Amino acid sequence: MTLSAEASPLTFNHELNPNPASDLERESVLANPGFGLHFTDHMVAIDWDLGVGWHDARLQPYGPLQVDPASAVLHYGQEIFEGLKAYRHDDGSIWTFRPEKNAERLQRSARRLALPELPVDAFLESLKQIVRADKAWVPTDADGSLYLRPFMIANETFLGVRAAHRVAYYVIASPAGPYFSGGVKPVSIWLSTEYSRAGRGGTGAAKCGGNYAASLLPQEEAAANGCSQVLFLDAETGTHVDELGGMNVFFVMGDRLVTPATSGSILEGVTRDSILQLARDRGMTVEERDFTLEEWRDGVESGTISETFACGTAAVITPIAQVKGHDVLFGDADAPAGEVTLSLRQELTDIQHGRAEDRHGWLYRLDA
Ligand SMILES: *Cc1c(COP(=O)(O)O)cnc(C)c1O
Repeated sequence: MTLSAEASPLTFNHELNPNPASDLERESVLANPGFGLHFTDHMVAIDWDLGVGWHDARLQPYGPLQVDPASAVLHYGQEIFEGLKAYRHDDGSIWTFRPEKNAERLQRSARRLALPELPVDAFLESLKQIVRADKAWVPTDADGSLYLRPFMIANETFLGVRAAHRVAYYVIASPAGPYFSGGVKPVSIWLSTEYSRAGRGGTGAAKCGGNYAASLLPQEEAAANGCSQVLFLDAETGTHVDELGGMNVFFVMGDRLVTPATSGSILEGVTRDSILQLARDRGMTVEERDFTLEEWRDGVESGTISETFACGTAAVITPIAQVKGHDVLFGDADAPAGEVTLSLRQELTDIQHGRAEDRHGWLYRLDA
C-alpha cells in the first residue's frame, strides 16, 4: 500500500455532460420533483484499488454504470451509502448541513462492511464538485432541496467470498420537493414482531443497502396495514424500541425528550443528534436510554408521553400518531401534530434553509 497515494489530495477531472437537460426540461422537473425520481446532469466517481488507494476522481455525465455481472456487490451486497441535502438560501448561496458527520459515518459504515475509508476531505470535495456543476438543479422554493446520495460499492470481478480489492465511490443528486406537500401530517406506524432490523454484532449501526433490503418485507406488511413506516424492536428481547426502517424515534414527556440510546443496533442519525442539541438549547432534559414498548404504550395511555415523532434527513421530522401491530394498537390516528414536534421541525428547517441563526456552525457552503 503506497501511503503517498492515500495522503495526496485528490484532484478531480471534469468531463461535462454534452447533452444536459434543457432549461425547460429542468424547470418542469423542479416544478414537481417528488423524491428520488429525477437526477441531475452529472455525477462524481472515485475508484479505489488495493495497493493504490483512491484514484481517478472525476466529475462525469450522469449515466448508467458498466458493471461486470460477476461484480462482488451484485452477489454479496458489499455496499454502503449516505444521504444529505443541499439547500439554496435566499441570497442564492448553496449550503449543506453537518456533512462532516456524514463523512465520518460513511467511514464507520465502511469499516463494518470491510470497505476502504474515504478521507473526510475527499467526501466534502465530492459534494462541492457535483453541486457546483449542477447548481441550477438546487430548488429555489422555500422547502425544496437537492438530495445528495453518496455511495460505495465493491466492484471487483470475483465470486470468491472476501472483501473486494476494487471499489468505487459515487455521488448522484436528485431534486426533492417538500416531503409533506399538504402540511406536516402525523402517520401510523407498524410494529414488526416477526422481523428484526439488526442484532447484536450485526450491521444495524452501518448505513448499508443490506439493512434496507431486509426491511422491505416488513415494510410491505406495514403498507398492507395502512402504515407508512415499520417500527423495529431489539432483536434479543423484543421489548425495547430500536428505530424505524430509516428513521430514529423520539418521545416528548413534559420537558423531557427521550430517544433510544445508540447501542450498536441503531443508526446514529445526524438529524437525531441535531434534535438532541436543539432540545438541550431550549433547556429540555435530554435522555438517551433504553425505552420499552410497554413504557411507550403506558405513557401514551396515561398521558405522560404527549408527543412522539420520527426523524431523518429525508422527512426531517414526522409526527407519529398511532402504533399498530398484530396484538398492539395505541395512540389516536387522527391526533394533530404536537407543539414540540412542530417547533423543533421549524427550528431545524429554518437553520438548514438559512432563515435562522446557525449558532452551532452546522452549515457548510458548497458553491463557493
Ligand atoms: C439514514 C438513517 C437514519 C437517519 O439518519 P439521518 O442522518 O438523520 O438522515 C435513521 N435510521 C436509519 C436506519 C438510517 O438508515
